[in-house]
Amino acid sequence: MAGMDKTLHIIGGGMAGSEAAWQAARAGVNVVIHEMRPKVETFAHRTGNLAEMVCSNSFRSDDDEQNAVGLLHWEMRQAGGLIMQMADRHRLPAGGALAVDRDPFSQSVTDALHALPNVSVSHEEITGLPDTGHWIIATGPLTSDALGQAIARETGAERLAFFDAIAPIVYADSIDMSVVWAQSRYDKGETEAEQKAYLNCPMTKPQYEAFIDALLAADKTEFHEGETAGYFDGCLPIEVMAERGRETLRHGPMKPIGLTNAHAPSDKPYAVVQLRRDNALGTLFNIVGFQTKMKYGAQTDVFRMIPGLENASFARLGGIHRNTFINSPTLLDAQMRLKSRPNIRFAGQITGVEGYVESSAMGLLAGRMAAAEILGQTLPQVPQDTAMGALIHHITGGAEAKTFQPMNVNFGLFRPVDGLKGGRRGRKDRYKAYTDRAKAAWAAWLDQSALDAA
Ligand SMILES: Cc1cc2nc3c(=O)[nH]c(=O)nc-3n(C[C@H](O)[C@H](O)[C@H](O)COP(=O)(O)OP(=O)(O)OC[C@H]3O[C@@H](n4cnc5c(N)ncnc54)[C@H](O)[C@@H]3O)c2cc1C
Repeated sequence: MAGMDKTLHIIGGGMAGSEAAWQAARAGVNVVIHEMRPKVETFAHRTGNLAEMVCSNSFRSDDDEQNAVGLLHWEMRQAGGLIMQMADRHRLPAGGALAVDRDPFSQSVTDALHALPNVSVSHEEITGLPDTGHWIIATGPLTSDALGQAIARETGAERLAFFDAIAPIVYADSIDMSVVWAQSRYDKGETEAEQKAYLNCPMTKPQYEAFIDALLAADKTEFHEGETAGYFDGCLPIEVMAERGRETLRHGPMKPIGLTNAHAPSDKPYAVVQLRRDNALGTLFNIVGFQTKMKYGAQTDVFRMIPGLENASFARLGGIHRNTFINSPTLLDAQMRLKSRPNIRFAGQITGVEGYVESSAMGLLAGRMAAAEILGQTLPQVPQDTAMGALIHHITGGAEAKTFQPMNVNFGLFRPVDGLKGGRRGRKDRYKAYTDRAKAAWAAWLDQSALDAA
């Protein structure tokens, strides 16, 4: 056990744990990475290396002016991130995307960490929550069962999920409000905001029938081997509901009752698709109950058949995966510490971000925050206008806690820049304004938060 010494213990040497270790060690802190592989395996990893990429070899767009994930790359490079350094070293040709030669990449991350005198790697599974010492839990979507149970006991079972059930998320400014109206079912709620909390897309019978046909015909993704389809009735994919009967959705998430079309009060819709606000900023809306295993290309085609969403832009498409994650908006403070046990931070995909890049980014922040605390310093708050800040703000407070599901970085998480045109037309200028603002804020934060090694 660590005692109250100044060592940082990191459980999980994946994307987040490796980056956290690098950041903390470079700040002068002693780090022990506890990684269970290769002794204990997961169904997706193949090696005993740190930072193994379990599936695709892509870090997605590398465009730091027009793309939020490209901006996250830029911010991590500026912060001397190990994951980006090695991704750049082992880059493969892939147009505007950053594709990575996976085995040399993870080998280089492993070697770089082993080469630091103040980092050691202990190959063991950690099965309980430590009472003392400084810890980061970065055990990812495939957190081992024993540790998952220990986390559930601490947080309450309802605050730890073993599957995600991601409904697609639409940018608010791409929804056609001349078709869609705002109303909660039966106008429920005390305040006007609550009574108008949902956006409703009406469907006629022919539109509904065509939609069901498209759902049934769409290409679907299979579960990975070992990733059993253990989802519950509460989060069935919509296409599975449609397979159970053509009317099932109309009696489930698409039921038209308790709603009056504000644009045509005497027309009774045959079915209604509802969208619910997904963040405090009101820039993102999720399609309620629309978790799906349809392939991404099929999703955009099918969802744009919904009246009012013909021109929808998607901040995130739907999915269902084996994915262990905590309800960060209720459980973590702004420093990524577990409120009930502040000696433990969480980082990576288990905090409710999604993807290699986002997970590494949250590792970078957790590593720096933990190092600062150990060195007796406090980091200034991460500016919300950076990609890092938009993500951490979302998971530790900006997201709706009740419907919290894993999130990719996207411009919908950013505060609007005043005076810029909304909609598709203004998009290029708007994205450039977001990324310019973010870069200035991130550079200033890095300057202010330079740590003095003890
Ligand atoms: C099947 C599958 C496919 C995916 N495909 C993609 C993709 O194509 N693109 C993408 O961007 N993301 C993908 N992801 C998500 C991807 O796993 C994450 O984005 C990223 O790896 C998360 O980083 P992390 O550090 O949080 O977790 P990981 O990289 O998974 O690292 C967690 C580490 O913790 C270790 N560990 C777990 N429990 C314990 C324990 N109790 N004690 C000690 N060590 C432990 C694990 O062995 C692992 O090394 C996929 C996930 C899965 C499950």
